[in-house]
Amino acid sequence: MAIDTSNLPDSLKFIYSHLDVRTDFAGYSGVVITDVDEVDQIRYIVRKIRSNNDEKISLLPIILHTSLKTLPSSLENMVDLLISDLVSQGMQVADVVAGIQTAIQRMAPIQKATRYEDHVLTRALRFVYTRNRKTLNPAINDDGPVGYVHSFLTQFMDREYSLDQYDMLKLALREGLFTSEFVDVIYLCNKCHSGALMYREACPNCQSTHLVHEDIIHHFPCAYVGPQQDFVIAGQEQDLICPKCDKRLKHIGVDYDKPSSIFTCQKCDQRSQHPVVVAKCCTCLHDNPVEHLIKREVFKYHITAKAVHNAVQGTIFSMDNYINIPGTLPKDVFQVLIRQEVERMKVAKIESHMAAIELVNLVDLFNRIGPDAQTTLLTELINVIREGLKSVDIISIENSSIILLGLLERKHDEAINIISNLIVELKRLVRDNYKGFEVQINFNLNKLATHRDAAEQYRSLLEEKTKA
Ligand SMILES: [Zn+2]
Ligand SMILES: [Zn+2]
Ligand SMILES: [Zn+2]
Repeated sequence: MAIDTSNLPDSLKFIYSHLDVRTDFAGYSGVVITDVDEVDQIRYIVRKIRSNNDEKISLLPIILHTSLKTLPSSLENMVDLLISDLVSQGMQVADVVAGIQTAIQRMAPIQKATRYEDHVLTRALRFVYTRNRKTLNPAINDDGPVGYVHSFLTQFMDREYSLDQYDMLKLALREGLFTSEFVDVIYLCNKCHSGALMYREACPNCQSTHLVHEDIIHHFPCAYVGPQQDFVIAGQEQDLICPKCDKRLKHIGVDYDKPSSIFTCQKCDQRSQHPVVVAKCCTCLHDNPVEHLIKREVFKYHITAKAVHNAVQGTIFSMDNYINIPGTLPKDVFQVLIRQEVERMKVAKIESHMAAIELVNLVDLFNRIGPDAQTTLLTELINVIREGLKSVDIISIENSSIILLGLLERKHDEAINIISNLIVELKRLVRDNYKGFEVQINFNLNKLATHRDAAEQYRSLLEEKTKA
């Protein structure tokens, strides 16, 4: 089909089908997807472009020329402009392409990242910068299973709908790249992380969902209380007869009432006033007791000055700088030792703890002092912590604002004391060396439990909110 492109900038690449993404995009200033109305195909094309290893291609402005009236919400952060007419909207296309290309030219070349998280976050930040976005809203996911999707980020990820998006966003938040505003909460299957769940009441004894609901009747004259079925006599179903005093029940509210109800399981006959709620996953069919669902908070994100700075400089936000700080263990080694400690606790009568110390506003200080001084500061902080611990205790840096401690063979009081003293010392160190900067320190201290998986305890330590 012939397209009138007289109002459009030169150097736009036209894509007419998902098969066209195999062609070369080099040298173009933007992409127009036209005549593709299948949302899946549009998404496929956009993802192919965004995942290109050459950033000049992955950041190309994408214009969608379509009969669709609105963009599906999951495509919102991915496509730059939706138009219905190439001729009359030509100027609009030109403006969008020029704006994005100008921003791209302002950025220094992107640095090579070794870690996947750094790679994805840096690319996402540069995308956001070139689109001049200040606030990033999560979109209801109309396509995959995870409830909400943060397309500005996930379009650069290998798997669009994985739970990793939440971990990465948390990382970015802790690094001071975003500030956040609460939007919603989602619950996901603990086996496959799908958010497509069916909630049902089930028998607490056998988990069967085949429950019959019955009212409980309280007969005032004799004070008998029992399920309605007890008041029904075969052959006289139209009446309710009290099984204790044999009187016929007259009027609800006068001689009897129904104070509550009860469930009877049709499989095991167990009666219960409190059935459990289970969520069946529509993706993998696993029945999740609701208290075991994975919970994630969903936020909208505001871009910080630090994020803009990193995007323009092409610097990789990275934890790699911190892993070689003397006296600390790499995260994976720390986790192995915690697992061993849990095993040891099963045989020895000892008590051990794991703690997270969060230096809440350290990011503000980091922003002021530059990357080299950051490493020096962290090294000093670790020295102070090391001095306050026994040699068997272990330290690991989770990220630049959270330090993890394994306090081995300590009673709870002792562990609390150690943490309180450390907090005083750490605050003093920062105040004395950084012109009175008051670092805000929160912590979370958990006793290691022998009945819980070590990795799960590690996760929940980080997920629970730290307290001041
Ligand atoms: Zn049952
Ligand atoms: Zn009675
Ligand atoms: Zn599942």
